[in-house]
Amino acid sequence: MKNIKWMFNESLPMEMHKARIVQKINLLEPKKRLEAIKEAGFNTFLLKNHDVFLDMLTDSGVNAMSDKQQAAMLQADDSYAGSETFFRLEAAIQKMFGMKFFLPAHQGRACEHIISKALVNKGEAVLMNYHFTTSKAHVVLEGGFVEELITDEGLNLNSTCQFKGNVDIDKLKDRIEKLGSKNIAFVRMEAGTNLIGGQPFSLENFEKVSKICKSNDIPLVLDASLLSDNLHFIKTREENCKNMSINEITLKLGALSDIVYFSARKLGSARGGVICTSSENLFKKMQGFIPLFEGFLTYGGMSVREMEAIAVGLEETMDEDVISQGPIFIEFMVKELLKRGIPVVTPAGGLGCHLNAMKFLEHLPQTEYPAGALAAALFIVSGARGMERGTISEQRDENGVEPLANMELLRLALPRRVFTVSHIMFVVDRLEWLFKNRHLIGGLEWSEEPEILRFFFGKLKAKGDWPEKLLENFEKDFGDSL
Ligand SMILES: *Cc1c(COP(=O)(O)O)cnc(C)c1O
Repeated sequence: MKNIKWMFNESLPMEMHKARIVQKINLLEPKKRLEAIKEAGFNTFLLKNHDVFLDMLTDSGVNAMSDKQQAAMLQADDSYAGSETFFRLEAAIQKMFGMKFFLPAHQGRACEHIISKALVNKGEAVLMNYHFTTSKAHVVLEGGFVEELITDEGLNLNSTCQFKGNVDIDKLKDRIEKLGSKNIAFVRMEAGTNLIGGQPFSLENFEKVSKICKSNDIPLVLDASLLSDNLHFIKTREENCKNMSINEITLKLGALSDIVYFSARKLGSARGGVICTSSENLFKKMQGFIPLFEGFLTYGGMSVREMEAIAVGLEETMDEDVISQGPIFIEFMVKELLKRGIPVVTPAGGLGCHLNAMKFLEHLPQTEYPAGALAAALFIVSGARGMERGTISEQRDENGVEPLANMELLRLALPRRVFTVSHIMFVVDRLEWLFKNRHLIGGLEWSEEPEILRFFFGKLKAKGDWPEKLLENFEKDFGDSL
């Protein structure tokens, strides 16, 4: 963001854009919100968007698009083979990452499917700074296994470390030595490490990882889905990068990687998936899977209109004013929550704001799903929808035993360029009230628990009548206010 000082002693995040297309949102009355969350089985994934006021579930496919992206969609070329749209997107990717070859796929997990199919053999390891749900699943599906090499500081919910997404270099060297480089399919670095709070890696760390991979002949794969936030943090937090442009940093990352892939539902602010590489050998290994699983090589399952929007979105990602919006709004929200003593993951990262539900609801055991209960309670008092990232998001093992998650987080995603300061302050206000009344929030238990991906469509119920009591107290304090 441009350096803008205020006359009074406080600074607010500033939007470097204005709204020209808007979507009306509804704030239901509190009683209706309670009904809606009950109907949804206390699972925010099952709420209807009509009943949601501020949708902070995810940043996937819901970032605001620019006027230029919308305009570009009109020139989409539907030709099956040789489509001009393909070449425009290819050129945008080459300019951004400096990589010659581009393969299209329908979204991020499809890229992971293709990369794992091409590179992972049974029994092989994939080393990562940290896993993402779908990236791990595709490695395991091919018979491989995942090891995480995040620094200890990365798992510390309240740290001053500016790059919690870094790989522990000693652990990396040690694992390569113990496993043997032949048994390692690839090393995967995730930008803006999603599941630990949108935390970045540094360019310095990435350079070290790349060097080690090269000398051991192991491909380095960059998951760039959340790269825009990570680029902002490299630029603003890393001394050696202060004078580099965003594109220079991105080109450097491209030069250090063997494969870059991303979900264009996040990076590029449209909907799709991209794999790129400079290696003809790797390109050829992956190429055949695209027409088999995704679609012809010119679109890979994406709509050509989306591809046009991605091309423009990627170009816009090289603009600091565009990519700083998310992190600056998140930092503002984190600061406001800290002022009120509300437990939140620090330092502020990308993607969203992550509340520490285990600390917020100290009285609840993890087996009663504090992060899920907090998500439901927040919806009842505000109509804002977050995402549980805790034990509900885990899967039972083959004996039916439920592993407790490392962290119980309530993630409040801030899709890019969507919300205003008043939206954020409204959620902060309701969270402050909830924190003061946290003893009213009780636990959850399953009523319908699917065997796979239970967090997406499983249903829970409240233990006791705490949601009704919560509503009663809310109405006592807020009267007839929504
Ligand atoms: C969202 C995401 C993916 C998967 O992308 P989809 O488009 O949702 O399939 C992979 N990696 C990271 C880091 C993500 O955030």
